[in-house]
Formats: sequence, structure tokens, C-alpha cells
Amino acid sequence: MSDETVRFSVVCAMFQAMLRDRSSAKKRKHLRTFLDRVFTARDRYFAALRLILPGLDRERGTYGVKEHALAACLVDALGISKDSEDAARLVNWRKGGPRSGANAGNFSLIATEVLQRRQGLASGGLTIKELNEALDQLASRESRGEKASVLSDLIKKTNSTEMKWILIIILKDLKLGISEKSIFHEFHPDAEDLFNVTCDLKLVCEKLKDRTQRHKRQDIEVGKAVRPQLALRVSDAATAWKKLHGKQVVVECKFDGDRIQIHKNGSDIRFFSRNFLDHSEYAPGMSSIVQHNILIDRCILDGEMLVWDTSTNRFAEFGSNQEIAKVAREGLETDRQLCYVAFDVLYAGDTSVIHQSLAERHALLQKVLRPVRGRLEILVPDGGLNNSRPLGEPCWSVVANTLDDVERFYKETIENRDEGIILKDLGSKWEPSDRSGKWLKLKPDYIHAGADLDVLIIGGYFGSGRRGGQVAQFLMGLSDSSTPDTHPRRFISFCRVGSGLSDEELDSLVNKLKPYFRKNEYPKKAPRFYEVTYNSKERPDVWVDSPDKSVILSITSDIRTIKSEVFAAPYSLRFPRIDRVRYDKPWHECLDVQSFVDLVHSSHGT
Ligand code: ATP
Repeated sequence: MSDETVRFSVVCAMFQAMLRDRSSAKKRKHLRTFLDRVFTARDRYFAALRLILPGLDRERGTYGVKEHALAACLVDALGISKDSEDAARLVNWRKGGPRSGANAGNFSLIATEVLQRRQGLASGGLTIKELNEALDQLASRESRGEKASVLSDLIKKTNSTEMKWILIIILKDLKLGISEKSIFHEFHPDAEDLFNVTCDLKLVCEKLKDRTQRHKRQDIEVGKAVRPQLALRVSDAATAWKKLHGKQVVVECKFDGDRIQIHKNGSDIRFFSRNFLDHSEYAPGMSSIVQHNILIDRCILDGEMLVWDTSTNRFAEFGSNQEIAKVAREGLETDRQLCYVAFDVLYAGDTSVIHQSLAERHALLQKVLRPVRGRLEILVPDGGLNNSRPLGEPCWSVVANTLDDVERFYKETIENRDEGIILKDLGSKWEPSDRSGKWLKLKPDYIHAGADLDVLIIGGYFGSGRRGGQVAQFLMGLSDSSTPDTHPRRFISFCRVGSGLSDEELDSLVNKLKPYFRKNEYPKKAPRFYEVTYNSKERPDVWVDSPDKSVILSITSDIRTIKSEVFAAPYSLRFPRIDRVRYDKPWHECLDVQSFVDLVHSSHGT
């Protein structure tokens, strides 16, 4: 049988069986059976594997749709009225509808409910080949109407179970309870290794046709993204130091930008993200500088793409990369520029160097790359970026001889409001996709800010998955302190927070607030007590009717605050987390904006 005739219903039957059987051995067996008995045209494996591992397939572009847009396309594809109950159910999939009950928050199940009422039970006979062609079209079509028309064709050729799996494949979230590693292993014992160095699922399928034939370990190549070496998280400096006992250790600043691999092949310069996406938007701002300052013809660099602010001579805060890439593309004047910090070299000349030690690679990095201040920097101890750092900044990288060295460096980094540190074994090789502990990361994600960050719930957001249809996150407000000696009358939106509470704590908090939740029906304005920017991203699903009915939460957070664009307060928190519910604290004792701003200005990360 070839993929010309294998029906998609067979893949769905395998998916359904995998969901039914909880044990990993059984799930693997279903995959084996599929691969061995059903899909025997080994040269066509890619057609099936890209449906089983859609998140790894880079052959077709992105679909450009998430649940919300997909819901709108489905409404069009099914030709149902926009005012109908089913259209509302699809678009408001998080909330569900009166009949959606347990499925609220699970888009594919809500869609199945709607589809079941319109599709027959019998399979429409869609083949894997036809499905892949349709998905290619879905990715290449721009407009919602065109995408809806592709879905409409698919609906005609499927039943609701098949269509459910198609939607799940489009959203790239199969949740089969089987790891990517196991899937690769069942396919071929060398599949994972080969994928890690090529990030090319098609090539893996083509090269590994025979499961009994072992494949010689392949090295990395210029032009093919490699899955990056990763860092293992540790809780404190002493643990990190113990783990690297006896090793020669370098400690580096953990920069907060985009992990980017730069591949130079003559005049061809490519930028790959850690998810092996080709980030061509960096080309206008960076290609020529990379071209001229990598001193060899073929090279792969590993590093972080950041933004450098020439007016302050500092790295700009996280989150401005895309904006600056756009500014560079449009050739506009600005104080900010893209800056690549190279911390490793993986390929030089005509050979991979990942098997050399990090110390050797550092030496090589300094030979192959000419640094350009604030544009293209090298991160090595006692050199590179350390020499060009602005006055008063800590070093960006040092060799640590004692635990004290690590602790001092960590403290300086945090005081400088950087994200954290990475410790690396200078004798280690660079291993694709490895997170075994050659690199360790230490960052103070949640620093307890004490009773100071006691802020008021002003709105709620519905959750997804098992929390669908119920409030699972909150919009928090700071009080406006402009009227001293009276209870605050206005609250200013400040951050959105969901994690930190147990299920029971969340349930009892939501139950307590439920009588005061008022649906936020667009375009109605927020209750007059609240000042919000009212942008679409941060518009809550419900408001708390009146602040005096609300509850204060103690929030902890990453110590670094961020300038807020989506909330009304001038700053927001980076990774907020609920520490506890303050039923004991009256609503009007909420932290006020001015005190918060003072706290931000004085904290400097300590
Ligand atoms: P996180 O969310 O903590 O960044 P992650 O899962 O994206 O974690 P990890 O491998 O755990 O990635 O942490 C390493 C990441 O830190 C790299 O992917 C890279 O983007 C970033 N980074 C910043 N500075 C460095 C550095 N000096 N050396 C290595 N990685 C660095």
C-alpha cells in the first residue's frame, strides 16, 4: 500500500487507540503496528510522520491560524449563521455554551460537537495524500475566505472524528501521551539523532528507510538548523557548583533575547531560532555586518539576538527585537539596533567543531569573528564583550575558581537586572538538544516581594482545557493614590496572573467572587472604577462589579518589572505568580500606583 491509498481514517484510528490506552508500551505498539503493517511504503513515510509530529514539520509554512481564527474559518466553512448558537460556541470556545459543559476550553472538542451535528458518521474516504495537499493549500492561502474554502472541502470528505484530528494537526497539539522521543524511536533508532542535527523531518524519513539498517552518526551542516544545546535549571549557586565539581567553569550572563544560530555560507546568511524557524526578518539589520565580520566563508555561530541602545550604551529590555528588525528593514532612524552576542561557534571552514571543548571553541570564536561594538559581540571570559562593556556594568563572563566567584557574579548580574547566569563546563562539547547538565542556569524567577505587592482583583479571564468556562486568571489593579485619606475610588490595571494557587484555593476564590462577576461584553466600557487601556489583548472576560466586593492577592514575581504597554499602569510584572489570597486584608488597602513606581525605581533588583 502506498500513501496514495492510505486513508486518513487509519491514522485517526491509531490516534484514538493511543488516547484510549494509557500505558506508554501500548501507545508505542499502536504506532509500531501502523508503521509496520499499514504504512509499508517506507519511502513515503514523511507523508504520515508529518501528521504525527506536526510541530516538527518545516516543509510547509505556518498556517497563520490559532483557535480564534480557526473558529471563524470553520463558521464560514460550515456556512452557519454568525448569530447562531453554534457560531457563538465556536468563537467563544473558552467559555463554552449552555450545552458545552465539560468541553468548554477545549477547542477541538467544541468543534467536534458542532461538526457532529453536520457530518455523517461514515468516513468520507480522505487519503493522507489528499490531506497533505489540503494542508499545503491552507498554509499558502492568505485570506480567511480562502482558508475557509479549504476547510469546507475537507469537511465534505471527512466525518467529525477525522475533522477533529485535522483541526488538532493544524493547531499542532496532539497530546497523545507519547513523547517525541518514543515516536522517533519506533520509527528508527537513529531518527532522533538525525533530526537533532538537521531539523529536517523529510530528510529523516528519506534517509532512514530501513529500520534494521543503522545510520552513521551525521554531523552538523551549514544551512541546516541544529537543535540547540540547552541548560538545566538549578536552584542555587551551591548546587550548581557541586554539579560541576572538579570541572573548569565559566559563568556567563544569561541574556534575555532570542536564541539564534547564524549560518554563513559564502554570501548566504541565515538566522535560525531555537525552534528551527528561519528568521529572515533579521537579515536587513544584520546580514551585511555578519557577512563582513565573520572572517571565514563557512561558519555556524550560536548566540543571542538582542537590541542595543546607543543612547544609553546598554542592551535594551526584552521584547523589542521584532520592532527593531522592522525598523531596520524600513531603514528608519533610531537609537536602537540589533546586536548579536555570539557565545559559541559550531562550525568553522569546512568542519564541525562541536566535538572540541568549549575552551577551544572560545579561542576559535575570537579568531573567526571580528567584534563590532553594539552590533556583533563575542562572549568569552577576559575578552570580547567584557572589554567593551559600559562603565560600571558587571563582566558578562568570567572563569570561576570558587563558589564565591559564582555567587559574586550572580549577585552582580541580578543587581544589573539581568535575567540570570549560565554556568558552563569549559571542557564540554556542544551536544545538540542536550539538557543533561553541561550548561546550568540559575535565575531568580520568583523573588518574594513581601506584603508590598498586595493588589486587587478587578477582572477575570476564562481558562482553557479543564478550566474552560471558568475564571482561571485575574486582571489585577493598583489603587490610584490621588485622593489621600479616603478609600481609593479608582484602580489601574497592572498585570494578569493565573499561576500559584492550588485547584481548591482557586475554586473557593472564584466561588466567592462569582456573584460580583459581570460579563465584559464588547464594546461596553469597563466599570467606572477601573482605568484600563482596553486593548484587545488584555480585555478580561468578566469584571468585578465593584472594588469593595473584591479580594486582594499577594503577588510575587520575577524581580524585573517591565514597562507596560498593555496595562494602564506604567510598569507591569514579568512573571507574576499568586503567593496567597489575602481574605484578611480589606480591599482599600491595595498597593497604590505611586508606591509601586517608587518600589520599581528603588529596587534595582535586590
Ligand atoms: P529560558 O526560558 O530560561 O530562557 P529555555 O528553555 O528557553 O529557558 P534553556 O536552554 O533552558 O532555554 O536556557 C538557555 C537559554 O538561555 C538559551 O536558549 C538562550 O536563549 C539563553 N541564553 C542567554 N544567554 C546565554 C548564554 N550566555 N549561554 C547560553 N544560553 C544563553
